[in-house]
Amino acid sequence: MREPGPGGRFGEFGGRFVPESLVPACAELEAAFTAAWADAAFRAELDGLLASYAGRPTPVTECKRLSERLGVRVLLKREDLTHTGSHKINNVLGQALLARRMGKSRLIAETGAGQHGVAAATAAALLGLSCEVYMGEVDTARQELNVFRMRLLGAEVHPVSSGSRTLKDAVNEALRDWVASVETTHYCIGSVMGPHPYPWLVRELQRVVGDEARRQCRQLLGGADPDVVVACVGGGSNAAGTFAGFVDTAAVLVGVEAAGGAAMGRGVPGVVHGMRSQFLQDEAGQILEAESISAGLDYPGVGPEHAHLGAIGRARYVSAEDGDVLEAFKLLAETEGIIPALEPAHALAWVTAAARTEIPAGSVVLVTLSGRGDKDVAQVMAMLG
Ligand SMILES: *Cc1c(COP(=O)(O)O)cnc(C)c1O
Repeated sequence: MREPGPGGRFGEFGGRFVPESLVPACAELEAAFTAAWADAAFRAELDGLLASYAGRPTPVTECKRLSERLGVRVLLKREDLTHTGSHKINNVLGQALLARRMGKSRLIAETGAGQHGVAAATAAALLGLSCEVYMGEVDTARQELNVFRMRLLGAEVHPVSSGSRTLKDAVNEALRDWVASVETTHYCIGSVMGPHPYPWLVRELQRVVGDEARRQCRQLLGGADPDVVVACVGGGSNAAGTFAGFVDTAAVLVGVEAAGGAAMGRGVPGVVHGMRSQFLQDEAGQILEAESISAGLDYPGVGPEHAHLGAIGRARYVSAEDGDVLEAFKLLAETEGIIPALEPAHALAWVTAAARTEIPAGSVVLVTLSGRGDKDVAQVMAMLG
């Protein structure tokens, strides 16, 4: 995918809508990342950590029994096999190395369900940085285990009691902290969202998913690319990283949102959290709560590059209902022996339905399995009764 245009624009989306006091911090980060990304030594250190600590490259798995069942050839990019169990580790290792390079000893992060908070705390522990995580009070109560994980990893968790006491309020608190602490602190954002340079920076750190998958598919398919490339979309980082590897091929790119959090499907353009993008809003422009069975897809907006790819028609955005997601979760477990996280089960739910209706039989479909399902098993058990 392309570099963003001047000011971090992806078409009419993106940008840097922050208080005056944060403009220098964003500019410093942009300059530091641009230099680091062009520096072979930085890239080698990151690649080394991705290999020896995170477990990259992750394999692409051919799903023989699922493919037979669906009539299309399903390949999975296995981010579930990384250390900590999702693609989030790719982003936090890159940002933690960047923080250290910038001479910052403290990381802050926002988290909804706690998954990005745990990832950020992991990277901070590895590199000896201090870490503080903002998390809505409602979420700290719902996600006690992740709060405990963050504390085990040496991070401090700040429950946020403003607004609706969920993810969007945690982002606001983290931005407020950053304004006051920018000398010593790097704000480690968890997805392809926020003011420029974050949507670009996080996509570049996640493109390892798509770049690896492209090579692996070519090897498996005798030099060909998949026909369809599918990923789930919360903020959109695993999808952006996946799409980056395939945007210049003929593959159809499909992003799957939760029906209750479909910022591409039902959102309208607005400026929130430092960027112009698509958001779920009421008529007065108030941000609505996203709701789905997977906490990782509960962000009420989407990254600006997805808004752009949707607007120009390069990627398609669809949604999956909770019931179909649960069916897909079970189907992958039963046919392939892989329990997926509920987030990528959305991508699988769309593939299952589309294989019957719109994907030509025999097509090759690559799905990014963004994470493993261990974190969701208790919840699914409760729902299935
Ligand atoms: C956090 C998370 C997501 C959603 O985040 P994106 O930025 O949209 O990728 C998806 N899958 C898993 C497993 C996650 O942990």
